[in-house]
Amino acid sequence: MKKSIIAFPRIGSNRELKFALEKYFRKEISEAELQIVAKELRLESWKSQKEAGIDYPISNDFSFYDQTLDLSIALGVIPERYKKLKLNELDTLFALARGFQDEENDVKARPMKKWFNTNYHYIVPEISKETVIKANFSKLLNEYQEAKTAGFETRPTIIGPYTFLILADYLSGVTEDAILSDLIGAYTVLFDQLNNLGGEWLQIEEPALVLDQTEEEQQLFIKIYQELLKNKNKLKVLLQTYFGDLRDSYQEIIKLDFDGIGLDFVEGRESVKLVQKYGFPQDKLLFAGVVNGKNIWRNHYQKTLSLLKDLGNIDNIVINTSCSLQHVPVTTENEIKLSKEILNHFAFAKEKLVEVSEISEIYVKKNTSLLDKNIALFDKNRVQENIQLKQKITHLTDKDFIRTPSLVERRADQIKALRLPLLPTTTIGSFPQTPEVRKARLQYKRGELSKSDYEAFLEEKIKECLELQDNIGLDVLAHGEFERNDMVEYFGEQLDGYIFTQKAWVQSYGTRCVKPPIVWGDITRPQAMTVRWSAYAQSQTSKPVKGMLTGPVTILNWSFPREDISLKESTLQLALAVQEEVLDLEKAGIKIIQIDEAALREKLPLRRSDWYSEYLDWSIPAFRLVHSKVKAETQIHTHMCYSEFEDIIPSIDAMNADVISFEASRSQLSIIDALKAHHFQTLVGPGVYDIHSPRIPSSQEIKIQLEKILNKLPIEQVWVTPDCGLKTRGNKETIPSLTHLVEATKEVRKEKITYDK
Ligand code: GLN
Ligand code: ZN
Repeated sequence: MKKSIIAFPRIGSNRELKFALEKYFRKEISEAELQIVAKELRLESWKSQKEAGIDYPISNDFSFYDQTLDLSIALGVIPERYKKLKLNELDTLFALARGFQDEENDVKARPMKKWFNTNYHYIVPEISKETVIKANFSKLLNEYQEAKTAGFETRPTIIGPYTFLILADYLSGVTEDAILSDLIGAYTVLFDQLNNLGGEWLQIEEPALVLDQTEEEQQLFIKIYQELLKNKNKLKVLLQTYFGDLRDSYQEIIKLDFDGIGLDFVEGRESVKLVQKYGFPQDKLLFAGVVNGKNIWRNHYQKTLSLLKDLGNIDNIVINTSCSLQHVPVTTENEIKLSKEILNHFAFAKEKLVEVSEISEIYVKKNTSLLDKNIALFDKNRVQENIQLKQKITHLTDKDFIRTPSLVERRADQIKALRLPLLPTTTIGSFPQTPEVRKARLQYKRGELSKSDYEAFLEEKIKECLELQDNIGLDVLAHGEFERNDMVEYFGEQLDGYIFTQKAWVQSYGTRCVKPPIVWGDITRPQAMTVRWSAYAQSQTSKPVKGMLTGPVTILNWSFPREDISLKESTLQLALAVQEEVLDLEKAGIKIIQIDEAALREKLPLRRSDWYSEYLDWSIPAFRLVHSKVKAETQIHTHMCYSEFEDIIPSIDAMNADVISFEASRSQLSIIDALKAHHFQTLVGPGVYDIHSPRIPSSQEIKIQLEKILNKLPIEQVWVTPDCGLKTRGNKETIPSLTHLVEATKEVRKEKITYDK
């Protein structure tokens, strides 16, 4: 029985690629030196795969930045403005990824988007009238050759034409048709070239097949591959899918002339059913994605074996991962602070190679000692169950999820309690994290700064920050979040049930990596987490200061979740912990509490038909649980990043927050029309200026933006805020920008009020 993976992480177990790239960008090393690091990483990856018994290690899964961008380059899909820079191939790639500036040129980076339902981001291909597809697969071919020279017969991987077409941006007047035949031609060239090199297998990744497909899209896929597969000659072609199932077109796809088809049995909830119902062709290999490529827990071999059994009598099975391993950290080997007992429960990328191999061994040779070891691991009580907490959750009733009085009824109480002007102004919470702030936090962490000195420093910073906001004239103040490194880690560190790794980095985009904390056990809150700072801040001013929390859905979405209990159960545990914090803040005299759900939209299932049953039906109530017990006059705010929630507006309203702010300055404000169309009740603060750029907006510009909003929404419904993330900016931009924001608001208020008389 063959063993396989889809792709291996390329960033390196110590983020070697990140650091080499950053050095290259700073011009501290040459391209040749960068290439040496890359080559070592590839070699190491092939070695690990071969050592673990993977039959065909993967090549071309390496990337200096992003595999979708690599494909754009390979197809010649490079907009003119980048070609004009006359850079070499690698620097052209970096110009697309990061933008390019010198004395004569100023070209922006191509936009990035989330890669399906992951936290990885890809660079969006741009197709315009001037696009001419021209195949240049030298990267793939070179890496294949490089592996061969090193003694590895690999299976190169490449994103397929269908997914490329689905993900691309089309500039006005252009459609897929314009490039379709050239695109097929380009892949045909690749087939020929790989055949010439004696390549055995090519893996084509088509994750776009797990999205809802229209009739036309299904046909487009069939058309592409009927054509393309005519030209494969000796080459064997694997169609690799992941992140879901092929429910729209499975029957048609299995009829095509692929030599292997890779299905995801972890996230593809209907994959087993499809195979059972329609069978799987005898002449193809079934690459069965049974080892989870997205989470870090050990595989439960018994469950996996019974899943494989459910597939019926298919003897052409290859054991595979469910998706690329780039979504998990490289190895547990470097985690020297966690005990062996704990690490035993984890499988990062390298450990997953072994799992693939062991599953195959158990399946074929009935190796019972391996199976027994795995059974013993799962039989052991990994965590002490918190019975009390479990009962609390079981006993939750509908009432616990409903805040009374209703949104509209409690508004009057809040107006009375808060006495805010029309168009209240505020920020999303964080303020610039200057080098001074970072340094103090680091010194404290290292024990070089005493607790009392650190706290005195923070109090000083908070005081300054409040004075600054007061001078600028903001109405609702924030304490500035100087004590926080990250909006999830800060809470995770104070909750029981979380554990943290040292080196478990996962690529988010380019050189940026994240280190998600791990939900290990039942979540509880041993003591108040933020009250000290919020109460201190409120004691310094007569204006309302917002309490600042991260919501349960976002905390979970940015962590590695448990697999032994449901996401819903974990979210409810977090919700109860955050609820305690909300009530403590209220008791401490905080009148406005903001509960950020920055990542709520992010984990919306890929298929519309799964949105409610798989996600919104429990995530929205979990948010409501957090604030259902506060007094009528306490105002609850929430914040979401990006305004891309047009499709789920009723669910956002159902969160039953009093005010929601969101990032909107870069969008065309079409969201406002949608809010209006849905009779959105919650008060809204659409960000009026972009904070991601160092540019300082004029008050005139902000006023225009505000007027646009007020043309669509009643003035009583609108709050005025910048976009989120001020912590990434400096005071140099923040102070004038916020000053302009307040000026613009005051002018609009004056005009509106005179006008209304
Ligand atoms: N309160 C945080 C801030 O203002 C929210 C960050 C975010 O939205 N990602 O920066
Ligand atoms: Zn945000």
